[in-house]
Amino acid sequence: MSWSYIVTCKKCGYISSEKLPEKEARDLKYAHLEASKDCSTGHVNLMKVRT
Ligand SMILES: [Zn+2]
Repeated sequence: MSWSYIVTCKKCGYISSEKLPEKEARDLKYAHLEASKDCSTGHVNLMKVRT
């Protein structure tokens, strides 16, 4: 069994459409924080999902 991650943001409602490996999900989280100035780390979560 393996796990992937999706990125969610409760500030703007963003949800990544792809299931990603943890490292890529982390990169996407930081990309989202840079792109959306209103969103902060407390809003963005990595959600673990079964692949
Ligand atoms: Zn956001």
